Amino acid sequence: MLLKGSCHCQAVTFSVRSHHPYPFNLCYCSVCRKTAGGGGFAINLSGKSKTLNVEGDEHISIYRAVINGEQSTGERHFCKHCATALWVYDPDWPELVHPFASAIDTDLPIPPERTHIMLGSRADWVEVSAQPQDKCFDEYPDESLAEWHQRLGLES
Ligand SMILES: [Zn+2]
Ligand SMILES: [Zn+2]
Repeated sequence: MLLKGSCHCQAVTFSVRSHHPYPFNLCYCSVCRKTAGGGGFAINLSGKSKTLNVEGDEHISIYRAVINGEQSTGERHFCKHCATALWVYDPDWPELVHPFASAIDTDLPIPPERTHIMLGSRADWVEVSAQPQDKCFDEYPDESLAEWHQRLGLES
């Protein structure tokens, strides 16, 4: 499906094609929490980077987090005026771009189950509302965004 997104001040709008649009993957790591996740987590989707279309490119800044003393290759793109987290792009996986579900204006499908990741980094005050069918991981999950959609027959 075609995902359309924007920042809060509307200086940046974008669209990207996604075969994996279910917002199921909740990340509780400190980088997502501080830069994007007011509720304690952020949700990344997956799109094809070749189809990414951006208006307002000049309003975007990039943040590369330092993780365990090393600067991450992941580029967190955000609006430099209103601070909206837009997407993560990692040159190590150049075919993908990962928009934040919070920046998407298109109605997203409701996931039948969710995956809670990086729970080892979650803040104490964040209550995890995991359902019985959900998967939970202290660190990285055991399947990719694409594999989750394939397992549940939700790839489009
Ligand atoms: Zn903005
Ligand atoms: Zn995270």
